[in-house]
Amino acid sequence: MLIKLNTPLEELMGVGPGLLSKLKKLGLGNVHDLLYHFPTRYEDWSEVVQISTLKPGDTNTIQATVKEINVRRAWKRRRMFIVEALLADSSGSIAAVWFNQTYIKNTLRPGVIANFSGKAALRKQNIYLSNPVYEVVGRENENVIEYGESQPTIKANTKHTARLVPIYPETKGLTSRGLRYLIQPTLEELEPQEDFLPTDVLTQNDFPELDAALRAIHFPQFLEEARKARNRFSFEELFLMQLKVLGDKLALAREKTNSIKPDAKTLKEVTARLPFQLTPSQGTSLKEIIDDLSKDRPMNRLLQGDVGSGKTVIAGIAAYLTATQGLQIAFMAPTEILARQHYATLKKLFPEFKRGLGLILSKETRVYYGDELETEFKKAQFVANVATGQVAIAVGTHALIEKGVVFDNLGLVIVDEQHRFGVKQRAALIKSNRDGVIPHFLSMSATPIPRTLMMTIFGDLDLSIISELPSGRKNIISKIVAPENRAKAYAFIRGQVRKGRQGFVVCPRIDSEVSDSENKMASKWDEVKAVKDEYNKLKHHVFPDLRVGMIHGKLKTAEKAMVMKNFTEGQLDLIVSTSVVEVGVDIPNATIMIIEDADRFGLAQIYQLRGRVGRGEHQSFCFLFTESQSETILKRLRAVLTAKNGFELAEMDLELRGPGEFLGSEQSGMPDIAMRGLQHPTLVKNARAAAEKLLAEDPSLERHPLLRSKVDDLAVLLHLE
Ligand code: ADP
Ligand code: MG
Repeated sequence: MLIKLNTPLEELMGVGPGLLSKLKKLGLGNVHDLLYHFPTRYEDWSEVVQISTLKPGDTNTIQATVKEINVRRAWKRRRMFIVEALLADSSGSIAAVWFNQTYIKNTLRPGVIANFSGKAALRKQNIYLSNPVYEVVGRENENVIEYGESQPTIKANTKHTARLVPIYPETKGLTSRGLRYLIQPTLEELEPQEDFLPTDVLTQNDFPELDAALRAIHFPQFLEEARKARNRFSFEELFLMQLKVLGDKLALAREKTNSIKPDAKTLKEVTARLPFQLTPSQGTSLKEIIDDLSKDRPMNRLLQGDVGSGKTVIAGIAAYLTATQGLQIAFMAPTEILARQHYATLKKLFPEFKRGLGLILSKETRVYYGDELETEFKKAQFVANVATGQVAIAVGTHALIEKGVVFDNLGLVIVDEQHRFGVKQRAALIKSNRDGVIPHFLSMSATPIPRTLMMTIFGDLDLSIISELPSGRKNIISKIVAPENRAKAYAFIRGQVRKGRQGFVVCPRIDSEVSDSENKMASKWDEVKAVKDEYNKLKHHVFPDLRVGMIHGKLKTAEKAMVMKNFTEGQLDLIVSTSVVEVGVDIPNATIMIIEDADRFGLAQIYQLRGRVGRGEHQSFCFLFTESQSETILKRLRAVLTAKNGFELAEMDLELRGPGEFLGSEQSGMPDIAMRGLQHPTLVKNARAAAEKLLAEDPSLERHPLLRSKVDDLAVLLHLE
């Protein structure tokens, strides 16, 4: 019977409960998983030589007959067993030695012919093979061997020796050798696959067909063959992702929505009332957004810009203009502190806004009616006011998408730091419109995302970029601080605080390798512990004379808000926090950013953290504390000091750490192979071009059913954030 890709692994020959549980540990459930468990590298045992040519230090393969094999105890360490064999070919003989693997004796009986791959070593003038990999290829009596010049004489279909040998990600009790035993016969008995990649895509990119690619990536003849196969698999995932995002984009473009056309006068008034002039790229972004809003199909746009570049102002204007057209706006932020801040910003920008500017948090709701008139509401009443349209702009956290919040006439959804929200939440917000009309969508992000990633994960979004900070911002003086200079740095910080400035101390998040929930909890506690320890150290030992606060994930929302309020009002000099607590808070008097164990942060993350200072009139400082002496790490950190912008660092981060680290593994359900593909801009570009071309010919993939179902599977798999 032929094996299918969806055959469960327990149905394969030789897979019992023990092996099955180990396979499960590697995340492998069926044949598809197994065959997509790709080697990380190959051991090159392809050169087969004669025994007489072996030199100490060589790593090669020989084909030889076992002449003798014995087990003995080691002289000094009596609990260790040594297996010793005498191997011979036509050119000579050599000893091979294994430690503690006494079972080898049962396989390598005298008369057995096997390949031996390994390193030749020297002991007391004698050359021997140390711990070689072996693979039986025949028997002396059954196979007539003519020892000739060229080896091997018996050309077997080997998997462990005499070839490029795949090395896999392993787990305890399941080695690469074990995986090869499983994968090779599976490949041989696999039913032929119909390739879901269109033929012209294959030929254009010089990719092998699916079946050939699977064989080539596991048991290649040449490395080049493996490389092509690997590229194909990376491409395949990127291509499917492109089909998904571009398909979504096409589908959205077919929807109808309210066109929002503010008159020129209103627009002029709004911008004239701002206490500053928009920067050029703020102007361009605003224009792009207004152009989109005026169309009768939904906008789907991402507004990107560094922290403090003025995104909120632009989003605020878009919200205001939408409200003047009689439509509602939902403005969602990832944390209560940010929601409050956006609410305050809008109040300040549009003090005469009388159509109801609402704030909804988990335990608090209020509405501003202009002219300093503000009312607190019970949540039910607030929700009712949203439903009747009496709240025109609703700013809030997740509370905005809780059950029961329905908009009368939602025209625009704005989401801050959308990568923190799941696709589902975004969809929920879009659907909360009473008449089911899909609103315009604007998302904002200060996270610099490398282009390849942008094109892939957010490939369905149009992009506006605010590329400069408002003028008048001062350069942030940044320093890497070695342990011996810590005291000096602290003294300097004290001096700044005496002058009335404030600062943040950020501790790294302790990431747990394991992703089950128990360990996540543990890592969350570790994180809290790190913050508490640092807080105690600073408060009691380093700065007993200063007012130090702390903020972390385990504090209640109200407690967090209190700390932030105290800080904003200047009743705290320093706050110690984790990196995740707040992005984008705007506190102009905060001029000091201290990052503890800076080497444990991503570059883009450090850059973003630093963006929290330097927002006011005073000179700001950023201190990167590190214990590391490694030149690579220091070089990496120095890049933060010289980088022109966050994007540059993001690209660097992606290159240095790989997309898994960059995105955070839980942030994306992206397969590893696709992640690696992201590091090859050309591959991403080609995948996008191929997807665009195909969708132009066949927009809903009707003529490519196999591909269609693959894309649908992917949609389920990806819970991209
Ligand atoms: P972001 O949302 O990108 O982090 P904000 O919109 O919150 O940035 O703006 C940060 C600060 O800069 C705010 O205090 C805002 O009032 C101010 N700001 C925004 N645009 C400008 C500008 N063009 N000129 C001067 N200040 C500005
Ligand atoms: Mg912001």
